Amino acid sequence: MINLEEIKSFLLDYSGPEIKLMEVCGTHTSTIVKSGIRSLLSKNIKLVSGPGCPVCVTGSRYIDEAVNFALSKDYTVLSFGDLLRVPGNEMSLSEAKALGGSVEIIYSPMEAAEKAINNPEKNFVLAAVGFETTIPAYALLLDNLIELKISNVKLLTSLKSIGPALDWLCENESDIDGFIAPGHVTSVTGASVYRHLAEKYRKPFTVAGFEAEHILVAIYDLVMQIANGRYEVHNLYKSIVSDKGNEKAMEIIGKYFELSSSYWRGIGIIDCSGYTVRENYRHYRIEIPVREEEISNKSKGCRCGEVITGKIEPYECTLFGKGCTPANPVGPCMVSQEGTCGIYYSMYG
Ligand code: SF4
Repeated sequence: MINLEEIKSFLLDYSGPEIKLMEVCGTHTSTIVKSGIRSLLSKNIKLVSGPGCPVCVTGSRYIDEAVNFALSKDYTVLSFGDLLRVPGNEMSLSEAKALGGSVEIIYSPMEAAEKAINNPEKNFVLAAVGFETTIPAYALLLDNLIELKISNVKLLTSLKSIGPALDWLCENESDIDGFIAPGHVTSVTGASVYRHLAEKYRKPFTVAGFEAEHILVAIYDLVMQIANGRYEVHNLYKSIVSDKGNEKAMEIIGKYFELSSSYWRGIGIIDCSGYTVRENYRHYRIEIPVREEEISNKSKGCRCGEVITGKIEPYECTLFGKGCTPANPVGPCMVSQEGTCGIYYSMYG
C-alpha cells in the first residue's frame, strides 16, 4: 500500500498528459489554498474551483427580490450573514438595511419560527439558500411552522441540487477530467448520485474529507483512475459518507420540496436543479419566476461565473484585490466564506 510521502512524490513528479481536476466544494478550495496543495503538484495537474458555494451560484435577481421585500415595509427579511453583503443589481441586503429596510441576521432557520411566534404582527421572509446539506433544516422549519400553525413566515428559496450542475459541467466543460466530490453534500445525497455521471461522461469522481492529506489522496486517486482509463466513483470519506446517503434527510426534503428549474450564476437555467416548496405548502413559498439574467452595470466586470465553472482563477479577474475586496465586494465569490475569490484574497490579496 502506498504511503503519503510516496503519494506526494508521485504527484510532484507526474509527467503524464495534462490533467484538470475540479474541487466542487468551497471548503475543499479553502484547504487547497491555505495548505498550499498546488505547490505539491506537478504543473501537469491543474486544480480548478467549482460551483459548490451556494451563495456564489445564486443569481443577482434573487438578491433584488429579497431587497424589495426588505424595503417594502410589510416584511422583515431573515438571512444568514454571508448573504447580506452580496450585491444585487441595485444594492445588497446590507445596503437596503442601511436605507431603513427591515433585515435581520439569523444563525439557524429555526430562528424564523421563534421570531414569528414572538412577533405575530410582523410578516417574515426567510432567504433560504443552500444545497442538500442545509435543505433538511428548512424542511424541519416547515414541519415546525405547520405543527405550530405559524403562518407569518414565507420562504424565498434559492435551494439547489449539486448533481445537475455537475452534469452541466461534464457536458459543457469537457476539459475537466475528474471531480473531487463535495464531502458535506454527499453525506446527504450519497456517493451513488455520481455514478450515472461517471458512466455517462467517462469521468471519475472521488469523495474526499477536508484535511489536506484527504485531498492529496483524492487527487492521487483521480490521477491514477485517469491514467488507467477508469471512471469510477470512489468514496474516501467513509466515516461520514455512505453510498446511499442520509435517507431520512432526503425523505424530509422530498416531503416539503420538489425539484424545479433553477438559475445558476455562470451557468444559466438548469432543469430540475433547484428545490421549491411543494404546492401543498404553497402558503409558505414566495413564487419568483425563473429567468436568465443579464449582467448589470454594477456587476459589469465581475467574472464570478467563470470562477465557479473552473474557467479562470480569481486573480485573472482584473478587479481582484483592486476594485473588489472582501471589504468592498463586487461579486458573491468575494463575500462568502466558501467563495473562491475571498479564499484567494485571504492568502494572496
Ligand atoms: Fe467577481 Fe470580485 Fe471575484 Fe472578480 S474578484 S470574479 S469581481 S468576486
